[in-house]
Amino acid sequence: MKHRDGICDRRRALKLLGAATTCAGAAALVGASPASAASKSAAAYRASPNGRQRCANCSWFAPPSGCGVVRGSVNANGWCNLWG
Ligand code: SF4
Repeated sequence: MKHRDGICDRRRALKLLGAATTCAGAAALVGASPASAASKSAAAYRASPNGRQRCANCSWFAPPSGCGVVRGSVNANGWCNLWG
């Protein structure tokens, strides 16, 4: 599923996190604390890309190894089901 601006992906992420599904909620989550982020297992994180999708081209990625919605360090070549 391709979304022009990633809003639906953010909504999916927010649902997984049990948070509000509004844009304001998404904006709040960008600066979310690690405690409010999803676990790697909940997001089905893996250390390899999914086709062309990888952390490095995901809007949640915070180089060099951070993620706005998944706890812990992630690899630029990794991927999870919250990619967007
Ligand atoms: S694909 Fe990577 S950067 Fe994007 S949400 Fe998943 S773990 Fe985070």
